[in-house]
Order: sequence, then C-alpha cells, then structure tokens
Amino acid sequence: MKFQKIDGKKIAAELRISIKKQVESRINRGASKPGLAVILVGENPASEVYVRNKRNACDEVGFYSLSKKLPYGTTEDEVLTIIDELNNDPAINGILVQLPLPEHINEEKIIEAIDVLKDVDGFHPYNIGRLALRMPVLRSCTPKGIMTLLKSTNVPLEGKEAVVIGASNIVGRPVSLELLMARCTVTTCHSRTLNVEEHVKRADIIIAAVGIHGFVKGEWVKPGAIVIDVGINRLETGKLAGDVDYEAASNNASWITPVPGGVGPMTIASLLENTLQAAELQSS
Ligand code: NAD
Repeated sequence: MKFQKIDGKKIAAELRISIKKQVESRINRGASKPGLAVILVGENPASEVYVRNKRNACDEVGFYSLSKKLPYGTTEDEVLTIIDELNNDPAINGILVQLPLPEHINEEKIIEAIDVLKDVDGFHPYNIGRLALRMPVLRSCTPKGIMTLLKSTNVPLEGKEAVVIGASNIVGRPVSLELLMARCTVTTCHSRTLNVEEHVKRADIIIAAVGIHGFVKGEWVKPGAIVIDVGINRLETGKLAGDVDYEAASNNASWITPVPGGVGPMTIASLLENTLQAAELQSS
C-alpha cells in the first residue's frame, strides 16, 4: 500500500500565515495585538528551546510576547503572584507556564491559578471539563494539533476505531476526549493495559504518545490505518525519533506523521490559534 505522509511542518506554516492575516485585520479594526506570556522556572535546556521557538512563532505572526525567566529557587507563591499580575494585564491574552516545573512547585495549583480565558495551553480543569462535555473553549495544544492533522487527510473520523497509547493529562487523555467528540470509538491504553498490541491491531486511527522509541511495531498497524506519532525521543546518535517504527509502519499505513515534522510543529501552531482565540474572547 502506498502511504501518504502528513506534513505537519507545511500545515503548521499554512496556519501561521492564516493567523498572521487575522492579526493584521484585528489591528486594522483598532484592536490590540494578541499577547502571550510564557513563564519558565529554572534551567532546562529543552524547555528553553521550546520557549524560544514559541517566542519566534509569536514574532512571525505579529503577536506581542513576554517571557518571564525565573530562577530555579523561585517559590510557588512568587509564581502565583506573577500569574495574578498577568491575569490582570490587558496586554496579555494568553499565559503559558512551561512544564515541567521544579519539584517544590505544585503544577496543579499553578495551572488552576491561570484565568480560564487566558489558559492557552488548555490544561486548566475548566477547559478539560468543557472538552469532556463537548463544549470546548480553549483546547489543549498538542491534541488540537493532532485533530487538525487528522482533518487534513479528509478521511471521515466518525465511527472509526481510534486507539490512543498514553493517558497523560497533556496528550493521551485530552486527545481521547477530542476523538470521542469526533465520534470515534476510543480506546485509551496506558502502562497497565494488558496486551496493547491487540488493541492497536484493530485500530483505524493510532495515536502513539508513550515516549518509548519504536514502541509501535510496523506489523501492529492494520492495513489502511492512520498513524499519528506524538513521541519525541532523542536517540544516542542525537537524532529525534518517534514512538512508531516509521519505516515498517509505512508499509501498512494509509497516512502517517514523521518525527520530526509531524505533530511537533502543530503544537506551537495550535498555541498561536488559542492565543488569537483568547484575544477575541476577551474583547467580545
Ligand atoms: P508521559 O510520560 O506523561 O505519559 C506517557 C504515557 O504512556 C503514560 O500515560 C503511561 O501510562 C503510558 N505508557 C508508558 N509505558 C507504556 C506501555 N508499556 N504501554 C502502554 N502505555 C504506556 O508522556 P507525555 O507527556 O504524554 O508525552 C508522551 C510522548 O509525547 C513523549 O515522547 C513526549 O516527548 C511527546 N510529546 C510530544 C509533543 C509534541 O508536541 N510533539 C507534546 C507533548 C509530548
């Protein structure tokens, strides 16, 4: 079977062009630039790269962006005070706290302190709850990006067997809710699932979000299945690779995302979409 690659890099670039145009028309009608604040606590090289990429993406589409880089020893109360200031800052429409946070800071407490209309990561229980009830407002970025990739294939999702491998709060759970909202029949596998292979083998749509390189074997992929590889694993060679054995899976898949260049660029594009949406919500 000839597979087709889902080009996340290209789809994300098209989204950024569309967002840039929408920002220009916002400014033409006298509204402010959408503003995104990113909070980073401590020294984490990977997080610093993510924050820099987010900032560059904001510049590209004409957003106002603000980075708050705080030392490792910053207390939970100090972070909460900054969030409170940003919640009340009219120039800021979206607040993102780069995870993971140092262990002495309670992530749930920090996420819950963000104004729900500025929660552009879509991790606040309010926004996850709205998604669970099929009334989403701000949707988690990676799952939202995955849905954009699935829609780009033009394959109807309704009634499809979707198997998600991974049940984290930031990927597995919210993407399972997204797929349920798209009327798929959803199975969510996690570290205690018995016989993951059996579940994956009947899937029309496979979402791999485990964080283990090569976890999904090519022969697990049903002929014609759509494969979305969320995993980002750094190999000994220094290269990045996903959770799916891409070469072998391509023999069976109808559509498949590469790593890098699949889900990764969509996460930032969805963050920009959410920040623009948040700006529109706050001015309406
Ligand atoms: P996580 O470690 O929080 O969650 C991993 C999940 O996999 C857990 O639910 C766990 O139960 C499950 N799991 C572990 N071993 C398993 C097994 N043997 N069988 C079945 N399930 C198993 O990770 P995460 O934050 O959800 O991220 C998952 C992967 O996606 C990572 O590689 C991460 O880097 C990547 N990621 C990519 C993006 C992106 O933008 N492309 C965004 C977020 C995460």
